[in-house]
Amino acid sequence: MKNLNLIFLGPPGAGKGTIAKDVVERYGVPHISTGDMLRDAVSAGSELGKKVKSVMESGQLVSDELLFDLVKDRLSKKDCVNGFILDGYPRNLDQAKALDKILQEINLSLTAVIFLDVSEEEVVKRISNRRVCPKCSRVYNLISLKPKNDTVCDDDSTPLIQREDDKAETVRKRYNIYIEKTAPLVKLYKGRNQIVTIDASGTVDKVDEIVFNTLEELRQE
Ligand code: ADP
Ligand code: ADP
Repeated sequence: MKNLNLIFLGPPGAGKGTIAKDVVERYGVPHISTGDMLRDAVSAGSELGKKVKSVMESGQLVSDELLFDLVKDRLSKKDCVNGFILDGYPRNLDQAKALDKILQEINLSLTAVIFLDVSEEEVVKRISNRRVCPKCSRVYNLISLKPKNDTVCDDDSTPLIQREDDKAETVRKRYNIYIEKTAPLVKLYKGRNQIVTIDASGTVDKVDEIVFNTLEELRQE
């Protein structure tokens, strides 16, 4: 059976992190979210975190150089040899080239790019209602994935917060950056016959079902 060496691609708020976590539960592959890794660095106050905090809060992309080292180190760990989900990387054409180089150096190849296709209107709605636990990073939604108890995390009762970059003004900016820099990757990977486009406009259960079916097919190929 084929390994699941995957990229999850899609606009901010498409549901990449949510669906990736469900795939992790089923297939046990590591979820590599560059956004989560960078946010962890900011919370820890590390050198990397200090460098990226204001860029992230303003909704801009962090430099390709910083991402290169972060992703290369993570993909080089032993747990990636049986599969992985890259979520939030690559974000532009230069990062896609850098990823080609990284994968070649560590002797891995991509199985597929899962493109979660959702309208701008729907992602803006999903993001404006996204709330996260500042302690364990679990992601909720005030409409579609509510915490059991109104405003605190189900797992550790920490009050939920809205990400700084999820505030309305920044969301538009991030979406525009996605259209300008990240959306061209759909064409790139289509040209390589590696894209699988998923209609991600339905409920989480529905999207999970489509993705699981797709992954089963990919594994059998
Ligand atoms: P979302 O899940 O809403 O798409 P992420 O959590 O992936 O957002 O990313 C949050 C922020 O982290 C980005 O706006 C950017 O500042 C930074 N970031 C994450 N991944 C990358 C990347 N591959 N290149 C540059 N910046 C990144
Ligand atoms: P991304 O990682 O692509 O930025 P998230 O997984 O964080 O997206 O999802 C964005 C928001 O939308 C979160 O609040 C999440 O709970 C919610 N969400 C995710 N998938 C769906 C879906 N299929 N339908 C409705 N809401 C969703």
